[in-house]
This record gives sequence, structure tokens and C-alpha cells, in this order.
Amino acid sequence: MPSIKKQLEQSKKELDDLLTYPTEKLVDIIKEIGFECDRCTRCCTHEFNDHVFLLDRDVEIIRGIDPSALVPAPYFEFCDQKGRLYVSGYALATDKKGGCVFLKNGLCRIYGDRPTICRVYPYMLHREEDEEGNIEWRQLSGLNQHGCYHTGITIEECERIAQQVTDYEKEYLEHKIRFLNMMDTYFRSSKLRHVQRIYDQQMRRVSGGEEIEVFVFHNNELHQHVLNRET
Ligand code: SF4
Repeated sequence: MPSIKKQLEQSKKELDDLLTYPTEKLVDIIKEIGFECDRCTRCCTHEFNDHVFLLDRDVEIIRGIDPSALVPAPYFEFCDQKGRLYVSGYALATDKKGGCVFLKNGLCRIYGDRPTICRVYPYMLHREEDEEGNIEWRQLSGLNQHGCYHTGITIEECERIAQQVTDYEKEYLEHKIRFLNMMDTYFRSSKLRHVQRIYDQQMRRVSGGEEIEVFVFHNNELHQHVLNRET
């Protein structure tokens, strides 16, 4: 795993790249794809979408609706030499079948208050590896695996979506940079460091049902949780 400093550099570069991505190009892509949701609900499941990452403001809204719907996001970034794990934020809990806890009878129970990522999905603006290993921008998740395509979206709507996507990605990267900055300061001041071997041990422990301590970054602070198979 790259050092915190390296990850910080990469995230800042990603943010710079995002901010210089031509909006008109994203608008054209949205127009060409013409995606429309057909309410298949696949995107609200773990199988299709892994997890719903929450920005700080989403966490406050979800906490006001149902605090038990908040769980540490699944991909812990760091583990110190004492076996404590650190993750950049919260995600939405899923039920036993892997569906979002707010998905009921094919509908979102909190539609008006749904998290930011649920509002921009399936659009995105990420740099990711393609099949050949080249790093490319991705603008849509799950192309041709859900929804309808080539529907006539107005240019005004495309512009609105493009702005919403860029704002979300910017907020997400700024959140990540705050997390990495905090971890850099916290680790150095507490004489801690990431240890991959202990990280791997802890991952095995949690898959075996043992309890582990996880600190979740939220509102510029670390919040302590104890994770076990039920959480
Ligand atoms: S909050 Fe609503 S839109 Fe978002 S994943 Fe859950 S059910 Fe789907």
C-alpha cells in the first residue's frame, strides 16, 4: 500500500484533474448515453454496487432517520501496530440479502432524503483502469447492465446532471484528502504507523467473527466502533 503522503499526492492530483475535466465533454457523454432508471433496484444492492459511501452531510441525515443504518465503510484504509483499523467514512447498512436497508418492495423508503451518491448514480467521474490496464475516465457505472439507454434527455437536464456529478466527486475527494491529512498528523503525533501484516491478521479475525476496533472518520474526527460479524 502506498504511504499516506503518496496517497495524499495522488488524491490531490485526482482532484486537480477532476476540476479541469471539460464540463461540455461530460454533458455530451450524458446526452449520448441517455440513461433512464427503470426501477430494477439492482443499484440498491450490495451485489451490484458494493456499498453506498456517505458524505458527512449524508451521515447527519441518515442518523436522524435511523442511526442503525450507519456502518463503517467496508474498505478500511489503515491499521496501526496495535491492530486498530481506520476508515474514511460511513456507508449504508444492508439487509441479510445484501439490499440497502431502505429498499422496501422495490422502492426507496427515504427517496426525498436519499444520500448524495444515490442522487448522482449511475453517473460518475472517476479515473479507473480499463480491461487493458490503461487508466481512463469512467462516466457511468454498470453500462448496459441496468436501466434504459438513448432516451431523449434535454441539454438542460444533462448540464444539471454533469454539475451534480462534478460537485459530488469534488466533495468526495475533498473528504478523502481531509481524512488522509488527519491520519498523517495523527499517526505522526501518536507514533503510530500502518502495518500491512497486522491489517491482514485483523481482516482474517473479522471474517472469523471476532471483534475488532475500527475508527471512522466523520466531521474531521475519528469515531470508535467495535465491529463483529453482526455489524
Ligand atoms: S438509500 Fe434509497 S436510493 Fe440509496 S441505495 Fe438505499 S434504497 Fe437505493
